[in-house]
Amino acid sequence: MQSLLVAVAVALVAASAAAVASAKSADATDDLYYRQQSLGGLGGLGQVEDAAVDAEASADPITASDPSLLRSVGGPGGYNPNSGSYQGAYQGYQPGLAGYQASASGADATAGIPAPAHDQLDFKYHNYEKMTKYLRTTSSRYPNLTALYSIGKSVQGRDLWVMVVSASPYEHMIGKPDVKYVANMHGNEAVGRELMLHLVQYLVNSYSTDPYIKWLLDNTRIHILPSMNPDGFEVSREGQCDGGQGRYNARGFDLNRNFPDYFKQNNKRGQPETDAVKEWTSKIQFVLSGGLHGGALVASYPFDNTPNSRMCRSTPLCSVFQNYASTPSLTPDDDVFKHLALTYSSNHPVMSRGVACKAGTPAFSRGITNGAEWYPLTGGMQDFNYVWYGCMEVTLELSCCKFPPASELPKFWEENRVSLVKFLAEAHRGVHGFVMDENGNPVEKAALKVKGRDVGFQTTKYGEFWRILLPGVYKLEVYAEGYLPREVDLMVVEQHPTLLNVTLHPAKRNDNLYRHPTVGDRLGPGPGPSYHSQHSAPAPHSSKPASDGGIFSSITSGFNNFVSNIFG
Ligand SMILES: [Zn+2]
Repeated sequence: MQSLLVAVAVALVAASAAAVASAKSADATDDLYYRQQSLGGLGGLGQVEDAAVDAEASADPITASDPSLLRSVGGPGGYNPNSGSYQGAYQGYQPGLAGYQASASGADATAGIPAPAHDQLDFKYHNYEKMTKYLRTTSSRYPNLTALYSIGKSVQGRDLWVMVVSASPYEHMIGKPDVKYVANMHGNEAVGRELMLHLVQYLVNSYSTDPYIKWLLDNTRIHILPSMNPDGFEVSREGQCDGGQGRYNARGFDLNRNFPDYFKQNNKRGQPETDAVKEWTSKIQFVLSGGLHGGALVASYPFDNTPNSRMCRSTPLCSVFQNYASTPSLTPDDDVFKHLALTYSSNHPVMSRGVACKAGTPAFSRGITNGAEWYPLTGGMQDFNYVWYGCMEVTLELSCCKFPPASELPKFWEENRVSLVKFLAEAHRGVHGFVMDENGNPVEKAALKVKGRDVGFQTTKYGEFWRILLPGVYKLEVYAEGYLPREVDLMVVEQHPTLLNVTLHPAKRNDNLYRHPTVGDRLGPGPGPSYHSQHSAPAPHSSKPASDGGIFSSITSGFNNFVSNIFG
């Protein structure tokens, strides 16, 4: 163990702060893209947001354009254990982890995170107009901690608002993860939508008083989409615990059946809400995500779909049979997904008990379940996040009643407050780092894979990568076109994330590593980033629209064609 640690440490020193800093100074961030988009369609809002940007730029060096300031906020320099500012931040992390363990044991779930003084947000349901007003007001009131942007519009033209909460709301912090929550994709599942508004309030209120929240916002960008289906919400009714009124978008589509699917071709016509989320997730590399739902009380993790569901198509008998025949459909990262789901459920005083909502509904041991084991579905959002972008998403079912009376909202907020925060902090578990060339320039779109976990991920334009892993010893496989592939040992510990910087060396023309690949070199049959499935998944490139397969296919072909025959 000790010698491996040394080897890892040696691998870490290959960093180049200068390269990353230069990349940053040339930046036009993806978030800026969204900001321009939202400014374009919003009249008066532009003024508020411009003021917010200015205030933020003058108050906070994070957004200043002087690259010399970057050392303290991002890049390998910022991660040097001996450097000043980031060290302070990580000391803040350790008490947070301790708090995590204490509350996970069930002694007092709220011990680590004190409740702030009364905030300004009512415990009432906010329709689109009121929600928009709240988000605008909050973004102008907290310009240093929040930024509001729209990722697109619903069928009926309502903006799909995203609020960023972070110490760097307008810019990605190099080396630090972006995470997200998506609520209310089923318009009549209203609790998550309101909890997201309260989460925004809680985070900005707690920043100056709660060291854990300060650490989280200093080191994470939290993107919150409170309503993915604002049209559906408008026709939903408070007090309706069951049923489908408002569940679908304005064209009658179930948005959680509307994403590209790994196991089965999804022929449903892409909806504007889904397309907006797909574009969003393609532009920002999210490390961790939660999809908030209602109608059950459980944290459900991928896969939602299973190859077996292909056998059950249209016959009623088959679908009945399927309800009794659901089997787990587990990912190669099953240990991580179970841990993430448990992080949420074990901090939730009711979900953790795993009691059925009512007679005739399932009880989930410890409040978690594999999605397909509960019931398989095609076109779900969490499988898409994971297989297409390596973003680990868990589906969080927060209330037995889909749209309970507003008087119950304070209870739901208290039940979920700690879980909502601690789940996001899990983005800081595992390994992260940079892939660079010999000159210290970042290598973009390098394909990475943890050996034995055949769902890959790739680097950002700054060469960054993240992967959530539990403590243990791993091998990371790194491939980028034009470079020699590398395999790097690493160790993950409980207390803090492992920083791993990888330098790639150029491949020479006569390196036979780069012989033209044959079909037999492919790792697996699926279109996933070298995802090796023993199931009968659809063949790559054949069953998906090109617009869906873009990035995905390029990772796949890169990895499958070149890496598999080298690493076996
Ligand atoms: Zn739902």
